[in-house]
Amino acid sequence: MRMIDIVEAIHESNSIALITHINPDGDAVGSLIALMLALDKMGKSVYGYCQDDVPKSLCFLDGADRISKPTDPVERYDLAVALDCSDRERMGDCASIMDMAIRSANIDHHRSNTYYADINIVHEDASATGEMIYELVQQLEDTGDKNIAEALYTAIVTDTGGFSFSNTTARTHRVIANLIEWGAEVTELSTRLFRNHSPEWIRLLGEAINTLKIYHEGRVSTLYVTREMLQKVGASEEHINGIIQYGKDISGVELAVFFREVDPSTTKVSFRSGSLIDVSALAQKFGGGGHKRASGCTINLPLFKAHKYTMEVIDNYFRETVK
Ligand code: 5GP
Ligand code: MN
Repeated sequence: MRMIDIVEAIHESNSIALITHINPDGDAVGSLIALMLALDKMGKSVYGYCQDDVPKSLCFLDGADRISKPTDPVERYDLAVALDCSDRERMGDCASIMDMAIRSANIDHHRSNTYYADINIVHEDASATGEMIYELVQQLEDTGDKNIAEALYTAIVTDTGGFSFSNTTARTHRVIANLIEWGAEVTELSTRLFRNHSPEWIRLLGEAINTLKIYHEGRVSTLYVTREMLQKVGASEEHINGIIQYGKDISGVELAVFFREVDPSTTKVSFRSGSLIDVSALAQKFGGGGHKRASGCTINLPLFKAHKYTMEVIDNYFRETVK
């Protein structure tokens, strides 16, 4: 399906719910806010939903305070649009909003997308859902403004690791150039997004780095964070974001794995890879998904068992696919 299909659906709708994924990141929040602001300007009644809180580091975005948790019972909207959600489950409790809506749409860039809505716009080659929302905003004939630009800049700069991941293209930079023309303040945004760590985050990073293990002749690294470590340094869930990159940035490492203890019997696993390994396929072996170079899954085992199990699967994967 093409972007024009969602443009038409928007024109035909009055009340519109925008939904993004659990544990929202910069792309999730930025894409939702940008589309919300553009739809406001069209005179639509727009509501933003996410099962979880917007991370504190993203609350500076204009419109972040309009993203709320689903109500019970849920409203019936003319249109519900999922953003950056590869499958229905990624919406968490917000899935019921889509179920209730008269029409549904899914705008996403994950290759593992399951085409779960009435209208599915999935561009695997988009660096971020934000890059797709830029196109959509243009097709809605919005001229763009500073707030939309800053939300989209945030979406794209975070999902590309500051324009460093392999999803970054010439088009990404062209979009960014236009966002700067719309008024995005790059220096201010970079400071807020990347040079704004709390002491708790730095202390948690120290704890996590102490768990570093290296496997497969230096090609695989693992790091983890337990509930106890969070408690020790006074950190919360959102402080975990970004730590995996340190495992990935070790020279020779092709695959970085990060484990987060969710509760005594549940572990969230993140994968990041260099140029060799398709971690989307790897995550799917555990019922998860994502991109070729960044993926994740949840394993219903205690952290250390999940670590052992994951490494066994990775050992086999290396034996079969990586020479
Ligand atoms: P992260 O490691 O930052 O949580 O996620 C990296 C990427 O993998 C994200 O783009 C996200 O969409 C995807 N991902 C993470 N966890 C899951 C999961 O449990 N299921 C699916 N389908 N995708 C996931
Ligand atoms: Mn994304």
